[in-house]
Amino acid sequence: MWRLALRAEVIGVGTELLLGQIANTNAREISTALATIGVDVLWHGAVGDNLERIEKAVRTAIDRSDAVVITGGLGPTSDDITAAAVAAAVDRSLVRDERLAGLIRGFFEARGREMPESNLKQADLPEGATPIEPEGTAPGFFVEHEDTLVFCLPGVPWEMEAMLEKTVLPTLRARSGEAVTVSRHVLTVGLGESALAQAIADIVEAQTNPTIAFLAGGGTARVRLTAKAETTPEAEALIQPVEAAIRARLGRAALEPGEDSVGGVFSSIARGNNLTVATAESLTGGLLGAHLTEAEGASDFFAGSLVCYSTEAKREVAGVDPAILEAHGAVSAECAVALAEGAARVYGTDVGLSTTGVAGPARQEGKEPGTIFVAAWVRGRSEARRVQGYGNRANMRLVAVNSALDLARRMILDANR
Ligand code: ATP
Ligand code: MG
Repeated sequence: MWRLALRAEVIGVGTELLLGQIANTNAREISTALATIGVDVLWHGAVGDNLERIEKAVRTAIDRSDAVVITGGLGPTSDDITAAAVAAAVDRSLVRDERLAGLIRGFFEARGREMPESNLKQADLPEGATPIEPEGTAPGFFVEHEDTLVFCLPGVPWEMEAMLEKTVLPTLRARSGEAVTVSRHVLTVGLGESALAQAIADIVEAQTNPTIAFLAGGGTARVRLTAKAETTPEAEALIQPVEAAIRARLGRAALEPGEDSVGGVFSSIARGNNLTVATAESLTGGLLGAHLTEAEGASDFFAGSLVCYSTEAKREVAGVDPAILEAHGAVSAECAVALAEGAARVYGTDVGLSTTGVAGPARQEGKEPGTIFVAAWVRGRSEARRVQGYGNRANMRLVAVNSALDLARRMILDANR
């Protein structure tokens, strides 16, 4: 059995984080890395370059966590005060580590540069701390206090990441015993997060390991299953029956496993069925084609896109019958079908996909923003779907892309039955 997971806290030090001048990407990297060894990150914090506030943040973290990972403020300048603040938080004094001081001197000598005396302050560590070899010029360190391990790493991302891999992860792994966290996703399109949650509520209710979470966006909703175990195969074995139950419940609404995006799933189905694909895009202006060409080797099945934004282009480029435009308008199921057929005809493909709609903010043809039609033409059969877009323009366009891909996916799979 794996032991109770360590509780960890991540603290970013630097006033630029609080001012919004840089994003706290270190926190994300550290959380991602700690998850791979089954350490639970329960808090993220950020604090400015202020001695008392850093000390307070570190004391709070030590009280409630088994491991604290701090980044930033280990440099040579006067606003780099993390080591002093951590020393205060663990009731120790700062002591110069002569070996580190030698390394820092050597770094400058090797480059023939004069070393400002202030750089030696980077060799001052809380008494009893274990130094972490510098990757650039800033050494890191860790110190244990009241059964909590406190790691201090430089703010520079690549230096931080190297120390994380070489020192933080191995040290914590040794502490926690072997434990891993594994996540898998079940992707759905067009269901909506609450409908999805409702459909599998009893399965979610009955579950503690894996834990189940819902994530939505761009017309997709996904179920994330996260299991903890001693080894990856054991974690996967815990996930497998629960994932199978969810997939059985959702049927065709659950996208096939193995790919992390709707474009990826569709591409592998098109490839697997030896189908060539083209698109005619109004609303999405090429985004559908972009999704289909994201992965390497798209030229196996993808021929090209017609971006026909104007009504003339729909007529002249995709060959949409003027009578359709006259009778139903450009934002209509009929026009979407004609676009999908047009794409397949122009490129001579087995499948044509299309999007048309009102991204907003203004109404168009008397239709509300969010009115979206997608269509697919698969070897002589065509179908359109009306979809409700939501959010900003970018999200509406994603809804259209994912809905078109999902419609074609279902048609191809249904044809195979
Ligand atoms: P240095 O020796 O370079 O001074 P340091 O440990 O003092 O290192 P900071 O001065 O706090 O680190 O940050 C150095 C740079 O690293 C910042 O300018 C920023 O670009 C980046 N950085 C710092 N903190 C973070 C963070 N939490 N997430 C992403 N990048 C960061
Ligand atoms: Mg600095």
